[in-house]
Parts: sequence; C-alpha cells; structure tokens
Amino acid sequence: MSLGNHRFMTKITIAIDGHSSCGKSTIAKALASKLGYAYVDSGAMYRCVTLFALRKGLIKDHSFQESDIVKLLDEINLSFHFNPTTKSSETFLNGENVEKEIRQMVVSENVSKVSAIHDVRVKMIAIQRDLGKNKGIVMDGRDIGTNVFPDAELKLFMTADTDIRTQRRFDELSSKGQHIAFGDVKANLIYRDHEDAHRKENPLTQANDAILLDNSDLSREQQLEFVLKLISDLTLSTD
Ligand code: C5P
Repeated sequence: MSLGNHRFMTKITIAIDGHSSCGKSTIAKALASKLGYAYVDSGAMYRCVTLFALRKGLIKDHSFQESDIVKLLDEINLSFHFNPTTKSSETFLNGENVEKEIRQMVVSENVSKVSAIHDVRVKMIAIQRDLGKNKGIVMDGRDIGTNVFPDAELKLFMTADTDIRTQRRFDELSSKGQHIAFGDVKANLIYRDHEDAHRKENPLTQANDAILLDNSDLSREQQLEFVLKLISDLTLSTD
C-alpha cells in the first residue's frame, strides 16, 4: 500500500472517540503526521479550563460553582503549537505551555465534572469546529463523531481492556515523574468513563457510523495499518 499518496487526495475529517487512555491521541498523532493533517486533542481543551479553574482556587474538594467557572471562560485563550523537537502538538493556555501540567492527576480528577458544564462545552465545541472547518484534521475526544463533526468521513470508536488502559496510563505518568498507585489510576479511568458516558450533554457514545477499534492486543503499527487501510478504501471510493 502506498501511504504517501494520501497527501494528494481530497482532505477529509477524521473523528476519534473512545474511552480514557486507550491510545486515541497516539494513533491520531501518527495519522496526522502520515497524512500531513492537523491534529487536535480536544480533551486538552477541557483540561485547560479545569487547570485554570484550579489555579483560580475555584475547585475545592472536587466541588465548585458552575457559574464561577462560566464567568472565567472569557479569560481563557487556547492554542496549539507544533514542537519540532518532540514532533508533537503542545497545548498553550493564555500563551503558556501547559502540556505537562494538564496531565496531572488533580486535573484528571476534576475534568469530567468541568467538561459537563453547558457553557464550557459550547465554547470548546465552537473552537473545535472552527479548527476543523477546512478539513484535513484528526481530532480525538469523546463527542467528536457524534456531535462536533457528525459528517466526518471517518469515525473511529476506540477502546481496550481496562487493565491494559490503566497500565498504559500508569507507564505514561511514571515516565513523566508522577508516581500514582496503579489502583488510583484505574479508579480514575473508570470514574471518568462513567461520568463521560452518563452526562446529559454530548455523552461518550459510539456513533452509529463509527468503526470500533479495540486495541487491547494490537501494536501501534497494527492499529495504524488498520486505519490507513480504512482511509485508503474511503479515498479510493470518493476521489
Ligand atoms: O482525552 P482526555 O482524557 O485528555 O480528556 C479529558 C476529559 O475531557 C475527558 O475525561 C472528558 O471529561 C473531557 N472531554 C470531553 N469531550 C471531548 C474530549 C474530552 O468531554 N471531546
């Protein structure tokens, strides 16, 4: 299969949704780099709002007043910049690189409640749709195929066994110097999946036309090959 040809085909929108820590961003970044597309981590946006609220002291013992967070939204400016050294897109909050800080456990513990706030979603979704208006984008999250880009040409719904996902997240946190007990990491994944799937607005669910990808037993290369084949079939039928 010639992968290079993808660059010359009509640009499409690729929406990747799924459970926490199942490797959505890994495959999304690899696809974006292979296809010459932009990559947007929509979860990073909700993490930024959460980090901002934490810094302002608005979240205490996992609780907050929704109206306090909504009032802050106009003070939040988000952007993504490609870092050529790490070959990856990094998240900036009001001009500050917060890529590392938004992955902290305290943010993970509070983000699902913050992302369920109506006005937060309205603001983030408007930014996401604007970023994707010219297609040629891979975006991962929880409601990308169901809500942000319902007309995306390719939708994936990713999942993996909970222990495998926990191990991956645990390894990622450890490699960044965050030593959290395996059980706490697992509890956070289960908690977030439950909250994300049961909230009122744009809950995590598989779109009717999304292709299920359970990567429990798949290597990165196998996943990439699987998705590139889907894109190849799709673009051959539309070009
Ligand atoms: O993808 P990530 O795990 O970084 O997302 C963090 C959180 O952001 C999710 O658990 C979910 O609460 C929220 N999120 C969302 N909608 C998206 C992406 C993320 O509600 N499209």
